[in-house]
Amino acid sequence: MKVRTRIAPSPTGFPHVGTAYIALFNLCFAKQHGGEFILRIEDTDQLRSTPESEKMILDSLRWLGLNWSEGPDVGGPHAPYRQSERMGIYKQYALELVEKGHAFYCFATAEELDQMRAEQQARGETPKYDGRGLKLSQQEVEHRLAAGEPHVIRMKVPEQGVCKINDLLRGEVEIPWAQVDMQVLLKTDGLPTYHLANVVDDHLMEITHVLRGEEWLPSAPKHQLLYQYFGWDMPTLCHMPLLRNPDKSKLSKRKNPTSINYYRDIGVLPEALLNYLGRMGWSMPDEREVFTLEEMVENFDVQRVSLGGPIFDVEKLNWLNGQWIKALTPGQLLDRLLAWKNDRQTLEDIATAIQPRINLLSEAVNWAGFYFNHMPQISKEQFESKKLTEEQVRQSLQFAIWRLESQFTWNNDTVSQTLMDLANQMEVKLRDFMPAFFIAIAGSTSSTPVMQSMVTIGPDLTFARLRHALEIVGSPSKKELKVWEKLNETLKLPKNDANSEN
Ligand code: GLU
Repeated sequence: MKVRTRIAPSPTGFPHVGTAYIALFNLCFAKQHGGEFILRIEDTDQLRSTPESEKMILDSLRWLGLNWSEGPDVGGPHAPYRQSERMGIYKQYALELVEKGHAFYCFATAEELDQMRAEQQARGETPKYDGRGLKLSQQEVEHRLAAGEPHVIRMKVPEQGVCKINDLLRGEVEIPWAQVDMQVLLKTDGLPTYHLANVVDDHLMEITHVLRGEEWLPSAPKHQLLYQYFGWDMPTLCHMPLLRNPDKSKLSKRKNPTSINYYRDIGVLPEALLNYLGRMGWSMPDEREVFTLEEMVENFDVQRVSLGGPIFDVEKLNWLNGQWIKALTPGQLLDRLLAWKNDRQTLEDIATAIQPRINLLSEAVNWAGFYFNHMPQISKEQFESKKLTEEQVRQSLQFAIWRLESQFTWNNDTVSQTLMDLANQMEVKLRDFMPAFFIAIAGSTSSTPVMQSMVTIGPDLTFARLRHALEIVGSPSKKELKVWEKLNETLKLPKNDANSEN
């Protein structure tokens, strides 16, 4: 049997270092067994999936050198590799399970299910689907289907006993069936959920080993049951420990930049980032710290993954990157430096921005330095404003981060519009609103036009600098965060509606 592993990202955001980490271990596992590593795009969530996100994910994994032999961009014997292009495949499998008596129709509306959950909660129970669809007679189901009533297909799940999952790292894991919901397989629109599409595709694409984040362990009983229902062999499961912030919490962008592009933009070498990710819960048999992807593949043994949550520590990564940089010849380093920001469009944007401000070419260095820096040197005093309270400054930064984060089209129009709307809604004049952003991005209020600067340095560096600034002025407490989240949403409402809320 040929080993086949896959990475199956959902293109719903920026390319996450966690995706690269899981991809790396899947690739090492496959290569070490002389197998294949493939890439499948799981975009069943059509509302949240975007082509921009997919492109960023593919580009960043390629930048890292994590190459797949089959995928949406390279094709392969099991094409298509994008679930949105496979939508015709899944329904028949859901129907097959209904026919075999392993799945059933449910006609409950969203309101009915909300009420069911509210009642369960009022009784102190954990909300869970109550199996109401199972109680319908065959006749009633046929009647309602013929009448064209909206429905979903759910899988049957045993009510009692425990499910035993074999995990490559954890051995036998027991999960009580009572904790497992009768999962929707096919939604009202006839499209599959992640669970159905994932199992069907892993089977059709002949995946033999599934290495994925441990957040998927609670889904394993559903998947195992689906394999049994279909009568298919299940791939071997291996749930990898989650990456953590230095304070041991789950790695999150609030505490650590998580976008691969951020690390690329600040000048981490792809080899160093891979090397660092390879050290997340794993080590070389001889414990050496610096190693290449080829060396990792050669020495890989999944059993050497330790389950204690690996800490993703930016300081440590920077140190390791330094080791890689120091090992280059000066000529190689020069090549890396020249290649790093060697994008004509970006350089021309910078030239455009500094042109009105310089008399000598040598002045370019001072005006353009912040485009290349990691973080500007800033202090809290710089953010003091005659027109804005400290709270308003903090809120403006936080609200801008939230709003820009959902902005996938990153250009002067979208960034400017987002900030101008925010200033308007906060009832602050743009000229009083902007200084904090100049300082956050460029380190000074006398700089090139800041909205265009944000476009030029890109979303990842922008978010990192805005977060850094917010930290300097004062990050919101947990309590403030809750209030601010609501306030940010309320501000977006048309004025009359906002007033009628009070
Ligand atoms: N699409 C899922 C994700 O984004 C894949 C999970 C799995 O590997 O089964 O993480």
